[in-house]
Amino acid sequence: MYTITVIPGDGIGPEVMGATLDILKASDLEFDFQEARAGYACFEDTGTNLPDETVEMAKNSDATLFGAVTSVPEQKTVGSILALRKKLGLYANLRPVKSYPGVKAVYDDLDILIIRENSEGLYSEIEEYTEEGATALRVITRKASERISHVAFTEALKRGKKRVTAVHKANVLRKTDGVFRDSFWKVASEYNQMDDYRDIETDEFYVDAAAMFLVTDPYRFQVLVTTNLFGDILSDEGAGLVGGLGMAPSANIGDNNGLFEPVHGSAPDIAGKGVANPAAMILSACLMLNFLGEHQEAFKLEEALINVLEQGKYLTPDLGGTSTTEEMARAVREIF
Ligand code: ATP
Ligand code: MG
Repeated sequence: MYTITVIPGDGIGPEVMGATLDILKASDLEFDFQEARAGYACFEDTGTNLPDETVEMAKNSDATLFGAVTSVPEQKTVGSILALRKKLGLYANLRPVKSYPGVKAVYDDLDILIIRENSEGLYSEIEEYTEEGATALRVITRKASERISHVAFTEALKRGKKRVTAVHKANVLRKTDGVFRDSFWKVASEYNQMDDYRDIETDEFYVDAAAMFLVTDPYRFQVLVTTNLFGDILSDEGAGLVGGLGMAPSANIGDNNGLFEPVHGSAPDIAGKGVANPAAMILSACLMLNFLGEHQEAFKLEEALINVLEQGKYLTPDLGGTSTTEEMARAVREIF
């Protein structure tokens, strides 16, 4: 029995979440789904966009599923998802870049995993005004760089990947990315000596070259591991290569917790119409199942979705179909 904290959120969040939970309830596994609140509607009702109960529940559950939230514009607080990631210590952001049949993509048969360090770098939020303008501090520690490199190798092995590529700009950011690069190679040399990891090649690219090759020859990459800002940009570039927001899932992993969410936001323009594509949320649930060690169920769920995409009969409007969220999810559930 797995205890899962479920945070539907705002806009299309509850729509894609409801559809995904209906599918998970049809699995052979037992789940205890505990609903928690965060986001805009929560702020309006309770005065906070991230209640302490939500954080506590997420901390104490086996995993958290997060839909999407609308940010609170007039409020000067951090967005609820950012705060939650921080409070749960979720330092690794995993973004699969994978093309699916029947989904228009720049490249077919693409299957890359981008791993972004999510706790420091240029997003450390240490900024200050100066006389001339402002400066931001780019914090890179050996601890976080080694930790994210470990994630890269273990995820590569789990997914049968044969290459791990570090992405940085150590020729210009000599000290900060020097630390990142050295930490990566230190960890790589440990893994290179382990039997299970012996066939995994290791290399590195400057971020500008990586950005170009992602567009011109993405097949050279399998697992990319990089710092916060570079990872943010490259993973959105990756999503653009394989059919956009409706299809892009993500995992946020720490030492004790995992949170799984679609890359898209609350999409107020289509909220309430019942036409949101549930695929990104379903694929986020696949990432969660893998995190829980339920690889067989994860595989089955992804296969069921692939089947529905291939059939092309029950697709939401963004995929060129006329089905509702509910209809597409039902089709997945019937195969799963
Ligand atoms: P937010 O402020 O919450 O991020 P947003 O307006 O930026 O909301 P996004 O969710 O980031 O909206 O998505 C941008 C656009 O992509 C939306 O306007 C929507 O039309 C489309 N979109 C996003 N997610 C989906 C989905 N699951 N299914 C269909 N279309 C989607
Ligand atoms: Mg958005």
